[in-house]
Formats: sequence, structure tokens, C-alpha cells
Amino acid sequence: MSALIMSMSGMRGVVGDTLDPHLSMNMALAFGQYVGKGPVIVGGDTRVSYHIVQKAVISGLLAAGTDVIDVGHVLTPTVQQMIRHFDAKGGLVISASHNPIQWNGIKVMNESGSFLTPEEYDNYMAIYNKNEPALADWKSVGTYTTFDDALEIHVDRILSAIDTTSIKEANLNVLVDPNNGAGALGNPILFEKLGVNCTVLNGEPNGLFKHDPEPLKENLSEIMAELKTGQYDIGFVQDADADRLVILDENGVFIGEDYSLAYCVDYVLSQKETNTPHVVVNLSTSRVVEDVAKKYGAPTTYTKIGETNVTQGLKEKNAVVGGEGNGGVIYPKVGWGRDSLVGMVIALKHLAESGKKVSETVATYPKYTMIRDKYTVKSRDEVLPFLDKIKAHYANETIDTQDGVKVMFEDSWLHVRPSNTEPIVRLFVEAPNAEKGQALLDTAKAL
Ligand code: MG
Repeated sequence: MSALIMSMSGMRGVVGDTLDPHLSMNMALAFGQYVGKGPVIVGGDTRVSYHIVQKAVISGLLAAGTDVIDVGHVLTPTVQQMIRHFDAKGGLVISASHNPIQWNGIKVMNESGSFLTPEEYDNYMAIYNKNEPALADWKSVGTYTTFDDALEIHVDRILSAIDTTSIKEANLNVLVDPNNGAGALGNPILFEKLGVNCTVLNGEPNGLFKHDPEPLKENLSEIMAELKTGQYDIGFVQDADADRLVILDENGVFIGEDYSLAYCVDYVLSQKETNTPHVVVNLSTSRVVEDVAKKYGAPTTYTKIGETNVTQGLKEKNAVVGGEGNGGVIYPKVGWGRDSLVGMVIALKHLAESGKKVSETVATYPKYTMIRDKYTVKSRDEVLPFLDKIKAHYANETIDTQDGVKVMFEDSWLHVRPSNTEPIVRLFVEAPNAEKGQALLDTAKAL
């Protein structure tokens, strides 16, 4: 049997296997119990298994007595925006994010339009695990309404928060690959309103992904080849639910998600929206974001991995921008979640107003190489002693223990995190070059 993943990001399972409709309905019943009358926003990406989960989720919510506003096929950040638009009590997003086509799942959002906080998640899971659904009687079942304008309102919300005049005037040629995912629904609305010449690859919102939906270099040969024709100023790729974004430069070079985030953070900070700018990212984000923030005197705070932790950090620090190195921009002025549409608008403003090509700007950033590896342990009992060895070996260095152990050196770092579900320790290393990174990794693994 394939894995069923339950975490603060929600639930993900394989269709025809671990993705059981009963499970989807039970999660919704428990969420209804957790939020009460609601309303709760329900929407999801373009996956072919959407209706299996969506119908079960709506049924569960209504049976729990929770009102449902069904926004249909949308981007994950669209649901997050609709929670705020309707002053809803939360949202359930039908999506397995960047996982391959056979997966689907549910992302669970709170009333601020962000993922549940750790405390909220524990409270919700306590209800779910108790497995005592409180069914509403006929007088108090939830009401069901549909809403068709969510994508339009999402885009308008972005364009009311960000002045896009410079983009309109720059006459940019953009290439975008939403991979037949949810981005294919939002992009046409956004680009028409932006007045940008946009060429689309894989723009059918049918959920038949042309390539693996995770926006990694090895999955993006098609857009890289098209960009090499030299007709475009920039390329964008979104994951299946279009929260994550990666930028490719005008030559088809994949700049990576961390550098895509840095490119956006650079622009936001250059606008000097506040005298006390602050940036928040997770612990496994490239140092390049901190380097860019330093140009503007902005401190960078690192949080545990997971979007909800970054969002909480942004709220606590009243930060202007942040995100996750492996996954996109959070711009609190617009919303509390990663949003590829916001990322594209910020990147296009950077491109339009800098007068520099993407490659020229990225060339000004320090170069780092990140290596990701796994260390298998015989049992999870071995994990803590391994982390202790790392701490002891690097006792004289700066160490962060919020999430596993992160050791920070002058121009490199090592982050060691135990998996929550498997007897595996994940190792992330970043250094100015691959040799230095590999040496750091080898030292840690030999401890
Ligand atoms: Mg995603």
C-alpha cells in the first residue's frame, strides 16, 4: 500500500489506494465540528480525481451543519483569498499540491486564510481522532452555495494591492507553463488584466500534467527549450495548485526556487514600504535570501519548515515579505499563503523597473549550491543520538534547534531534520560550491 500522508499541510493519498472517500468525508465532518456553522470555502485544483474528494468533503461539512461556499476549480491561494472575502471560518482545498497525478488530498485552512497553526491543527486532529461525528438534524444541516467569481476576485485583489503600471508599459514577452494545473485557470485572467504578451505551454486546465508537477529543473526541459529560442524576457512554471512558482531567465536557465524567491524579495525590499523591513523564511531556504535582505538592512528570521510556521513568523515580525525556499512567495499585503500569481506580478515589476535582464540581476547574487540527501537509520531511536553528535561536533558554531539541527557557518550551512513518518534523517547542505558542500555532507554523515 502506498503512503497516506497526514500532516499540518493536510492529507495526501493515492487515488484507488490510500485516498479513501470515507477518509475525505470524515476529515470534513471533523472540520465542520471544529469550525461550527462556518461558512467554509471549498475549492480545488484541476486533478482528474477532484470530484471524488470534493463531493465527500462537501457532504461531510453539510452533514456537520456547516455552510459551504463552493468556489469550484481554483488555485490554492484563491481559496485562501475567498476565506477572507467571505469572512469564512476556514477552507478545504482539494489538492495534492506538487505530487504526481495519481495523488490527491485536502489542504486545511483557518479563518485568516493560512494553514492551521500547530495548536489549531492539534485541536482539529483531536476531534478527528475521537471519531465521534456530531451530525446535524434536518433543521440545522449546512447550506450549500456556489460562487463563480473567485478567480476574478483573487486577481483583482492582487492588482488592487500592487500597482502594475510599469508592467503594462514595459512590453514584456512572457512564457508560462502551468502544466495543465490550476495556474491555467488564473493566468489568463491575470495576464489579460496586466496587459502582458503571454505565451502559454500546457494551458488546458484538465489535470493531465504534461510533466511531473514539482517545479524542479529535471521536469522543465520543455520550457527551457522554448526559452532558448530567444523570444521571451522571462519564463514561469507553477506547481499543480499554483502556490509554488519558479522563474527561468530569458536564456532558459532555471534559476531555482530559492533564487526566484530572492528575486521577488529583492524587489519588495527595494520599494521601502516600511522603515523596519523584515523577511521571514524557513530554515532550509538558501542563504541568498538573507544576502539580498542585507542589502536593504532587513533582518531575516528563520522558522521551522512548513508554510504555517513561515506565516506565523511573518505575523509575529510584521514582516513585509517571506516564503519558503522550495516553494514561493508570501506577500502579506495580499495574503497569508504562497501565491504564484503574486510572485509573477512582483517578478514582472522587478524586470520592468530594473531595466536589467533576469540573468543580469541574478548574476549579482552570491552563488550557492544546495545538496539534499537522506540518512537511513535502523530505527527512529537512533535519530536523537545522531542529532546530538552533530550538535557536539559543531558546538563552537552557531546552532539553531527549532527543527532538527541547523549549523551555520560563515558562508555555508548544514540542516539535519528527522522525518516525521519514516526512519530517515534528511540532510540539507548549502555552500559556495559543490565540493565544499559535499565535504560538509560527508563529515556529517560520518559522525
Ligand atoms: Mg502546491
